[in-house]
Amino acid sequence: MLHVDAYSELVAHSKELATLQSFSALLGWDQQTYMPKGGAAFRGEQLALLAKLTHAQATHPRLGEWLNALNGAFAEGTVEAANIRELTHGYDRATKLPSRLVEELARVTAIAHEAWVEARKANSFATFQPHLETILKLKREEAAIVRTAEHAHLYDALLDEYEPGASTADLKVLFPQLTAAVVPLVKAIGESSKQPDGTILTRDYPTDRQKWFAESAASAIGFDFNTGRLDVTAHPFCCTIGPGDCRITTRYNPAMFNEAFFGVLHETGHGLYEQNLPAEHFGTPCGMYCSLGVHESQSRFWENQVGRSRPFWQGMLPRMKQAFPGTLDDVNLDAFEFAINAVQPSLIRVEADEATYNLHIAVRFELELALITGDLTPADLPGAWNDKYRDYLGIVPTTDADGCLQDVHWSFGGIGYFPTYTLGNLLAAQLQQAMPNADDAIRIGDFSGPREWLKANIHSHGRRYRAQELCTRATGRALSPLPYVEYLKEKFGGLYGV
Ligand code: ZN
Repeated sequence: MLHVDAYSELVAHSKELATLQSFSALLGWDQQTYMPKGGAAFRGEQLALLAKLTHAQATHPRLGEWLNALNGAFAEGTVEAANIRELTHGYDRATKLPSRLVEELARVTAIAHEAWVEARKANSFATFQPHLETILKLKREEAAIVRTAEHAHLYDALLDEYEPGASTADLKVLFPQLTAAVVPLVKAIGESSKQPDGTILTRDYPTDRQKWFAESAASAIGFDFNTGRLDVTAHPFCCTIGPGDCRITTRYNPAMFNEAFFGVLHETGHGLYEQNLPAEHFGTPCGMYCSLGVHESQSRFWENQVGRSRPFWQGMLPRMKQAFPGTLDDVNLDAFEFAINAVQPSLIRVEADEATYNLHIAVRFELELALITGDLTPADLPGAWNDKYRDYLGIVPTTDADGCLQDVHWSFGGIGYFPTYTLGNLLAAQLQQAMPNADDAIRIGDFSGPREWLKANIHSHGRRYRAQELCTRATGRALSPLPYVEYLKEKFGGLYGV
């Protein structure tokens, strides 16, 4: 009976921790949406106090005692065993790190973030370089401390924070397979005589109509506005406060249709995952998303596999023409579908299209891995970055601001984060291949097929299985770049005639 008591105490503790974290989430959401500027300083104090309380709760010695007592107490495969596995994983990581290192990382990255903002503005890599050197040193130290027997490579210990179970060895196979297929495809697309008319998307799209149209699409897909809302922020995100309260954001540009619309579909995908997590497991791993990669697979699936598909617009384009009277009178389905699927190698990751996006990630993965192993020194980063852009995208940044200074991730120590974007994109394509074809229903605005399939195969499991096992259970095989490559070839081959 003893372990039953320990387990219920563990769950109660875990729920309390999640509730503390939900306060931070709510304050963070408010900070980015409605908080007046003058509230910033006090908000900082509120969040700092919550961070302290949260850390104390997450590293409480009782937690270690319960987890020890419960080690092996439940049969493999049960919800209880999964919760204990994941809570032990989080607790070990949190308690292994000496507070000296945690505080130093927090201090160094806070300064580095400011330095990065300035360096990017001034296009001066040299001023960011010493900060990057310190971050790399600390992240290597962190990785060496949290590394476990299952981490064959030092970088595995960093991946572990965002994508538990992912391995450097797998990524070193996966990325070259991907680039080998996508680089020539993108090149052929660029050389094709068939090119889309992108001006269709930069006509007059009043913000209030965009808002109405995007909300109606999110709603049609299944985002529940009784348990969620959509607001405006400078940087779009999805944030869960708790069961029954998931909030997404976007930004509108009245001279650009696709940014807000596909942004909303993307966040809707994240939101559906959060809204469909089993509420009865709230506060424990089985009530949480599996990994960042799996989360991104959900957003990309609705944004790209569904939202940029022909069946979707067969149903949606007539409604769009009603929402923006007169704007698209001369535009047919072929032209519209082509415009929203334009492929154009660019320097900036966040503006990249579906076909070139993962090439940007391949560059970052290869470089950050080399930085961690020491095969690349920070001083040589700008040159190495530009070489890889030439190789993969056929273009070279003329400034570091548009090159290796463009992303925030390294400045906050987020090394091991980038690969999760690509893992998500690959999984989205593999999930679509595995689920029953729903094109006919999607044409008439019925999205229940993929939505329910994802709920049953992904959302309802929370963190019960690691991402690798979840993928195999849902799709019948390990994650592979092939479904994604096939998807790209079929889609863009058709559009561009390549
Ligand atoms: Zn996302």
